[in-house]
Amino acid sequence: MKNGSIKNTEFSVSDECTTQERDIISRYWELDNTVFVNKPSIIAKEFNFKTYQIPAIAAKHAIMKLYFDCKSCHNEDVIEVKSQVAYLRNIKKKHNCKSCEEEIKVNERIRRERIQKLRYETELKHKELLTEEINKTLEKGIINESWKLLDNEQFNFLLKICMINNRNKIFSQVFNDDFNRGWQITNSLEKLNLVYIERKRDKSVKDFHFSEELLPILQNNHLNYEPTVENEKRFEWDRLSMRLKKNYSTNEFDPLYSGIATFKEDVVLKAYTKHVYSVWPKENGNIWISITPIEDIVTVTNEPIENEPRHIQEIIKSMFKNPLN
Ligand SMILES: [Zn+2]
Repeated sequence: MKNGSIKNTEFSVSDECTTQERDIISRYWELDNTVFVNKPSIIAKEFNFKTYQIPAIAAKHAIMKLYFDCKSCHNEDVIEVKSQVAYLRNIKKKHNCKSCEEEIKVNERIRRERIQKLRYETELKHKELLTEEINKTLEKGIINESWKLLDNEQFNFLLKICMINNRNKIFSQVFNDDFNRGWQITNSLEKLNLVYIERKRDKSVKDFHFSEELLPILQNNHLNYEPTVENEKRFEWDRLSMRLKKNYSTNEFDPLYSGIATFKEDVVLKAYTKHVYSVWPKENGNIWISITPIEDIVTVTNEPIENEPRHIQEIIKSMFKNPLN
């Protein structure tokens, strides 16, 4: 009985069993030091039984008591086992007595509850701090009236995601077609404190947050806004901007750029309206084309046309500097 704390054993067989059962049990519990001499399958063959019947007979009529000194308080206690497996599992271990075991369990429960409480409090504190940070950040966007700095596309994009105000729907309805473009706009909105992006540990998006004051402001400032429509409303855009894919065909009659485009909204370019058109080179020989009503660029940046005619040129120039505007 090396390594274990068992100092004594006591084996007893019930008086109610038959002679054959008694024989089976004595074969089953035959020990050479702490090793069982007979496997149940061997005994079963010998007595013409099924293997599973042997441990069942033993468990029904015999008990092995293992006496030990508790490894914590050193008081004596006993474990009762009824099978070879249970015996082997317990014989070489050091044991705690029942009251020490109970105490350990209670302490463990208290410890776990304390950790849980601490974790909960930390989480709560974290949530509070996060909410504070979100509110502070978004408040800046409102105080600075940052929406006035947006171009038409950014403004409409913000209005859309603010109306949807649901992470999954924003991804499926707004980011779906041009993910990179969506992120470019979102990043500039985040810099202007118009949206707060809550992230998970792996940096993926947990949620989008907007100031409660933002949506009414955007709705009041949106030229074509129709307040009766639902979130799923189809937006009508008055500007066209898209990537044109370079056609690498060597046939001289093929178009320089060709591909298939899908638009997220109806695009309406109004007749007799001045539009700025611009084309920027992009990677892999592709180009980015944008057609925007002059009036929109000017209105969104809050510059009246008639008073400051020179500004129009400047605004348009500054738009040209940023090819993805
Ligand atoms: Zn004890």
